[in-house]
Amino acid sequence: MKKQFAVIGIGRFGSSVAKTLYHMGFEVLAIDSNESRIQELINEVTHAVQADTTDEEALKAIGIRNFDVVVVAIGQDIQASILTTLILKDLGVNTLVVKAQNDLHGKVVQKIGADKVIFPERDMGVRVAHHLISPNIIDYIELSADYSIVEIKAASRMVGKNLSELHIRAKFGCNVIAIKSADKMNIAPHAEDLIKENDILVVVGDNDHLQNFEMSFR
Ligand code: ADP
Repeated sequence: MKKQFAVIGIGRFGSSVAKTLYHMGFEVLAIDSNESRIQELINEVTHAVQADTTDEEALKAIGIRNFDVVVVAIGQDIQASILTTLILKDLGVNTLVVKAQNDLHGKVVQKIGADKVIFPERDMGVRVAHHLISPNIIDYIELSADYSIVEIKAASRMVGKNLSELHIRAKFGCNVIAIKSADKMNIAPHAEDLIKENDILVVVGDNDHLQNFEMSFR
């Protein structure tokens, strides 16, 4: 059965999550207290309803417990976000994902029992900063405070060499976990796999090691 999602608060972030899930073929219920927001999105989600989600009865009437994942994307109104999270947790929703406006907001919803807390602005800021300092870095995912995964364009000096000749693990302490080429994705690269022009390496490692690795091929 297809996974069912509910997205509460369809501002810029919530509507983007809701539309993307819907276009990926999932069932999406969008909820917002603002009727005009509902009208804007009505053709791009499975259902859209107007409700104030700080009202427990309204959430019960919607049958919110039946959804596999509920995303709380209320941004500005932190109080409404916290109350909504609390009620959803009390109602026993399966998986609860909450967008946090700042660290304190994040801590509170985590304490209440959110399964995942996301900080879109903060995380996007980090990603953009990484793109800016290094034109070769295509994408960046923070795994923890110390470890990340980066997608990095193969430098011209890497082309025609294999992973073992580049000593990426021994010299830099990083692991190449995939090589993306124009025609295919190699998700289990071997030491003898050659790097071609325009390849993209997906590398996991300690942030300092990743930075050394990237700098030394510039
Ligand atoms: P963004 O920064 O992603 O645009 P906003 O905070 O502007 O986020 O938008 C959040 C949405 O949440 C708004 O459309 C707003 O109407 C909705 N919202 C705020 N409070 C509630 C509530 N109590 N119940 C339901 N929706 C709410």
